Amino acid sequence: MDFRDAPAEVAFRNAASTWIAGNLPNALRGDAGEGEWGQLSSGHERDKTAMAEWRARLQSRGWVAPAWPKRYGGGELPVMQQFILKEEMARARAPRFGGVGIGWVGPTLMQFGQDWMKERFIEGILSGRERWCQGFSEPGAGSDLASVQTRAVRDGDEFVVNGQKIWTSGAHISDWMILLARTDPAAPKHKGLSYFLLDMKTPGISLSPIINMAGNSGFNHVFFEDVRLPARNIVGEENRGWYVAATTLDFERSLVDLCVEYREILLEVIRFAKAVRPAGLSPEVRHGLVEMLIQVDVARNLSLRVVSMQAAGHQPNYEASIVKLFASELEQRMATVVFHLGGLFSQVTSRHQSQWEPLMGRLGRFQLHSVAATIGGGTSEVQRNIVATRGLGLPRA
Ligand SMILES: Cc1cc2nc3c(=O)[nH]c(=O)nc-3n(C[C@H](O)[C@H](O)[C@H](O)COP(=O)(O)OP(=O)(O)OC[C@H]3O[C@@H](n4cnc5c(N)ncnc54)[C@H](O)[C@@H]3O)c2cc1C
Repeated sequence: MDFRDAPAEVAFRNAASTWIAGNLPNALRGDAGEGEWGQLSSGHERDKTAMAEWRARLQSRGWVAPAWPKRYGGGELPVMQQFILKEEMARARAPRFGGVGIGWVGPTLMQFGQDWMKERFIEGILSGRERWCQGFSEPGAGSDLASVQTRAVRDGDEFVVNGQKIWTSGAHISDWMILLARTDPAAPKHKGLSYFLLDMKTPGISLSPIINMAGNSGFNHVFFEDVRLPARNIVGEENRGWYVAATTLDFERSLVDLCVEYREILLEVIRFAKAVRPAGLSPEVRHGLVEMLIQVDVARNLSLRVVSMQAAGHQPNYEASIVKLFASELEQRMATVVFHLGGLFSQVTSRHQSQWEPLMGRLGRFQLHSVAATIGGGTSEVQRNIVATRGLGLPRA
C-alpha cells in the first residue's frame, strides 16, 4: 500500500493549493478567532462581502460543488481530486460551501427529483440564494428514523401536514426543508413515508430554538399545524420516501476532510503552547498531543480507504462507519487533551481576547461542541452495530 500521491495527484494538489493561496480573499485568511473547531461547532459569521467574493471565485472553477456534474454547475472532479481539494482547502483554513443544500439536497434531486425541481432549485442551492434544512428527526425517531410520526394527509392536489420535528439545524435561517412524513399509517413503517420539499414560509410552521450546552442555538424544534403543501412537491413516489431519505443519508457529510482540519487545529494548539508555556509542558500533555497527531494520521488513512473504494467504483459500507466512528471519537479525545493544556482558563468560552485565553475561548467551546460529534450523522453505537453486523458478520441481538 502506497499512501503517497500519484504524479497526477501531486500536480493537482500543487495547482489547487497555488490557486487557493492566490484567490482566498485577505479578510478570510488567517484565523483571527473566527474559525470554530470541530465538525459540529456552529461557525461564527464571517465577512459577508469576502465570502461572496470567495464563493464567486470558487464557482468560476465549479469548486463550490466539486462533486456535482458539470451540467448542474459542479466541478465533476474525480473522487481522489475531491479529497485532495478538500484537504488543501482545510490546510488553508479556507471556508467551504456545503451544508444540507449542496451536500444532500442537490445530489438527491439530481437522482430522484422531477425536471421542474431541478430547474427550480439547483441554481438557488449552488449560488447560496436559498438555504435548506433537514426535517427528519423527531422526538421518537432518530436512530430509528423509520418511526417518523409527522403526518401528511392528501387533500386533492395538496397534502396537509401535522406533527413535530426536532434538532433541525438551521431551520431558523432556511428557506426550504426536506421533510420526511408519514403518508400511509397502515403500511409497514418503512413503506408509508414520503419525502417532500417544503417552503418554510408556508403558514402553520412555527419554530422554537434549542440552546445547546455551549450556549448556541443552531438547531430547533419545528412544529406543523395544518401546513398545506402542493402534492407535486413529493420527491420520488408517494409512500416510497424511505428510499429517497436513505440516499440523502448516504450523502451526509463525509468526515474525510476533517482529518486535515484536525491536524491544523493541533498545530495551532502547539504554537499556542509554545507561546504561553515557554517553560515547557507537562509530559502528560506532550504525550497527549503527540498521540493525537498519530491518531489524526490513522484517521486519514481510514478515510483514504473509503476514497479509494469510491475511486474504484465500489460503494463503501461499514468502512464509512469506521471513519465516522473513529473521527468523531478522536475529536472528543482531542478536545480533552487541548482542554487540559489550557488549564483553568479553558473554562473561558467567550470570544473576547485576553492575555489569559489568547485562543478566544476556543479551547472551552471545542470541548463543549465535541460532545455532539458522536450523535449527529448517526451515533457511535449505531456505527458500531453496522461494523459488527456488516463488517464482522456478528449476529444481531
Ligand atoms: C448537532 C446535531 C445536529 C443535528 N441536526 C439534525 C438536522 O438538521 N436534522 C435532523 O433531522 N436531525 C438532526 N440531528 C439529529 C440526529 O440525527 C439524531 O440526534 C441522531 O440520529 C440520534 O437520534 P436521537 O437523538 O433520537 O437518539 P436515539 O436514537 O433515541 O438514541 C439514544 C441513545 O440510544 C442509542 N441507540 C439507539 N438505537 C440503538 C441501537 N439500535 N443499538 C444501540 N444503541 C442504540 C443511541 O446510540 C443513543 O446513545 C442532529 C443532531 C445533532 C447532535
